[in-house]
Amino acid sequence: MEGKIALEEHFAISDTISATHDAKYTGWFPAWPDIKRRLLDLKELRLPEMDRHGIERVILGLHNPAVQGIADARQAAEVARKANDTVAEFVATHPHRFSGFAALPMQDPDMAIAELTRCIKDLGFKGTMVNGFSQVGTPENVVYLDDPRYEAFWGVLEQFDYPLYLHPRDPLLSREPVYEGHPWFMGSAWAFGVETAIHALRLMASGLFDRHPKLNVVLGHLGEGLPFMIWRIDHRISQTPRNIPAKRKMADYLGDNFYLTVSGNFRTPSLIDAMMEVGSDRIMFSVDYPFEKTAEAATWFDELHISERDRRKMGRTNALSLFKLEGSPTASR
Ligand code: MN
Repeated sequence: MEGKIALEEHFAISDTISATHDAKYTGWFPAWPDIKRRLLDLKELRLPEMDRHGIERVILGLHNPAVQGIADARQAAEVARKANDTVAEFVATHPHRFSGFAALPMQDPDMAIAELTRCIKDLGFKGTMVNGFSQVGTPENVVYLDDPRYEAFWGVLEQFDYPLYLHPRDPLLSREPVYEGHPWFMGSAWAFGVETAIHALRLMASGLFDRHPKLNVVLGHLGEGLPFMIWRIDHRISQTPRNIPAKRKMADYLGDNFYLTVSGNFRTPSLIDAMMEVGSDRIMFSVDYPFEKTAEAATWFDELHISERDRRKMGRTNALSLFKLEGSPTASR
């Protein structure tokens, strides 16, 4: 399919790729040198790859945890600003092919609001990608987005009418002893999904979407397991009330306040399950570049045995309307 839009596509700046990353990945992640090169590249490799696989536009977002892992708020704000300026400068050279998600210093809600506002109003960004909880003040102090300190931030985001892409990050081992001694759980094989599903449920249960019914949150990887689990969660809550502040069922929020992307989860039965839970109006194409292969994502998506109407919605038009994008007229036919 021509004219696809992809929105979980990562980049890095030198400030966000630390020596810790290299130490962590070298040895057990053979693809890391190539991934690192692709993360740091904007100008050379992306556009030819998009052209080869029918991707008209990419919304760029920083890799994880990047800004969310910088406990010092001022430093986090500085790195976020640098990353956002880097994207803005690049997007300006290809305004019909690239857009940006703001990286935000959630360590300080006021600074996050200021940077979000600058990114959307001055730089034309299409929302924000936040990598899960933020470490605030000290590395051990973690703050999730359902924290009351973010109430004003969510209000501003709702007013701008752009979504927050809730991207995974690893939990701190000190808080998740169940993973101890089993490092294979960490990262995108398992811990990412569980951590992010719980974070999304925290947002739903907190009543956030009762207070801000127009908010939209995007989840990657076909919803981090939530489409499969959501009925049982509501079913068990209904059997044993648990003083949850939210007024509605979790499935209602998943259907009304969330969008899912297929990033890194190119599995047809899982997609069908997601389509049956939230519908094709709220699912969008994505790759998860450069951690996933564009060819694999695009070939799978283009050849799916679904209606062309659903393919067009998920591949393109849902994203055009959610992000208020102008698509090229030839691709929209
Ligand atoms: Mn990703």
